[in-house]
Amino acid sequence: MDTSGLKAEGTQWDLSELYSGPEDPRLAADLTEAQQRAEAFAQTYRGKLADGQLDGPALAHALAEYEALSELDHRPSFYASLLFAADTQNPRAQQLVQRTREAATAVANVLVFFTLELIALDDTRLAALLAAPEMAEYRHYLEALRRFKPHTLSEKEEQILNQKHLTGSEAFEQLYQELTGSLRFRLGVDGEERELTDGEIMALLRHSDRDLRERAFTTFLETHAGHSLVLTSVFNNILLDHKIDCELRHYDDIVMPTHLANEIAPQTVEAMMQTVERHYPLAQEYFRLKARLLGVEKLKNTDLYAPIEAAAEEIPFAQARELILTAFGRFSEHFAAIASDFFSRRWIDAEVRSGKRGGAFCAALSPRHHPYVLCSYNGTSRDVSTVAHELGHGIHYSLSRRQNLFNYDAPLVLAETASVFAEIVLTRHLLSQTQSPAARRALLCDLLEEIYGTVFRQTALTRFEMAAHQKRRAGQLTAEDLGDLWLREQEKLFGSNVELIPAYRWGWTYISHFIHSRFYCYSYSFGELLTLALFQRYLDEGDAFVPGYMALLESGGAQRPEHALAHLGIDINQPEFWDRGFRVIEGFLADLRATL
Ligand SMILES: [Zn+2]
Repeated sequence: MDTSGLKAEGTQWDLSELYSGPEDPRLAADLTEAQQRAEAFAQTYRGKLADGQLDGPALAHALAEYEALSELDHRPSFYASLLFAADTQNPRAQQLVQRTREAATAVANVLVFFTLELIALDDTRLAALLAAPEMAEYRHYLEALRRFKPHTLSEKEEQILNQKHLTGSEAFEQLYQELTGSLRFRLGVDGEERELTDGEIMALLRHSDRDLRERAFTTFLETHAGHSLVLTSVFNNILLDHKIDCELRHYDDIVMPTHLANEIAPQTVEAMMQTVERHYPLAQEYFRLKARLLGVEKLKNTDLYAPIEAAAEEIPFAQARELILTAFGRFSEHFAAIASDFFSRRWIDAEVRSGKRGGAFCAALSPRHHPYVLCSYNGTSRDVSTVAHELGHGIHYSLSRRQNLFNYDAPLVLAETASVFAEIVLTRHLLSQTQSPAARRALLCDLLEEIYGTVFRQTALTRFEMAAHQKRRAGQLTAEDLGDLWLREQEKLFGSNVELIPAYRWGWTYISHFIHSRFYCYSYSFGELLTLALFQRYLDEGDAFVPGYMALLESGGAQRPEHALAHLGIDINQPEFWDRGFRVIEGFLADLRATL
């Protein structure tokens, strides 16, 4: 792979392990096979659980087949989603997303009886089935599944909901992605009118020219505002769709489906978020320090990510790779070895291309396949951290490949445990190599801005999202309403320390999590605070910490978060635990003050 390019030119992923292309005959064959095997599965097992005809070993056998079938069923749509992310304007990718999604829904509908029968089992009967040793690896899956018992509808109703999702929330998600992916931003840069992608224009928030930063973000937001009719409609429908779901499924609390999926108690999350809000003054202290470093009277929100040193050097992609692998290697050779594969085996797509999905992600299909990473590498130090972050996810997925498919994905609140840790490990390595106060200052600012963006900002985002869902229950929201709710939560975080640019009232339009992963944002705050506390443990214990931490990552989604963490002696229901995370942040702030 050619990594000589300054901006990762040529670093494209190789998806050929999945399929050779959208026209690969194996793809069509998999779609057909998934449908046939699902029908055969239904023929063999429908009604058997309810009738008591399956014993423990037979159920374990059925679950293994169900697992294999789920993977086969998801492979084509997984491939389509990667193709689409790499080139959102490619009509073949768009069509394939649609076609594979429809096929997956058809298969899911044939199979839905099975989970419904598992949910419907009475507790005594389930206990008898779980007594079989073959069932041990499925215990957690069944327990987690059965928590949805009070919220599950009949088979016919579930099937109808699945089918109507295609033209309901999923259609709005797709519309949102295609619209935002197609946006181009016209901006005067160095006296020249340019047309930028979202990745390119957002990168200008880290430019040293204050006026350019403000113009860039204003253009970005106002371009979204130009589509307010569609964006407001998408938001309203996504919010209404969830309201209807909650009513149909008897959820009093609109966040409860997320909490159940995360296997976390609502009061644990609320306590965490309140702790974050109590510490907003800590973020505000950083904003005042940053204003001082930039030599401005008052920070604007477009100054938050401004470089504090003039013209930071661009880091070629090859150098980024070396830095990351060396930093990971200092923590654990195994960590570095896994990350290295992503580069050498082309599991990462890093170059900047027009039409590529914005942001960065790591995606994984199943324990039988390696994960894939996508990002747009622009050569800044933040981009290096982003690559480290996504590789952290990749390492996490790789380590949990020993789990079965049901236990593969870490619960959301643990999903950032390796990614954030990887970023801190990288920064610490860079700090250890840096003597000059100015350079240390730049690194600490990067780190603290990452923490601000994850711990503090994501809590404010979640509060906005909760408020929007709550308000939608009473009726349609206007773009004005959404802007008001947005600003209200942002102002709590920024206080009087930061001036928000006028166009920022459109800030809600570009956070795609609100559209495709409802209430995801709180798990960023949760995960980052948790990881900061874990990192403190690593500093205290040194190498002795590593095996327990690796075991936590290897456990994937095999245990509830509070149980997985209890093995490391952590009790997430203790408020002091969350305070510990903030002590680490206070330490970084003190380090930064020491450089002044
Ligand atoms: Zn992440």
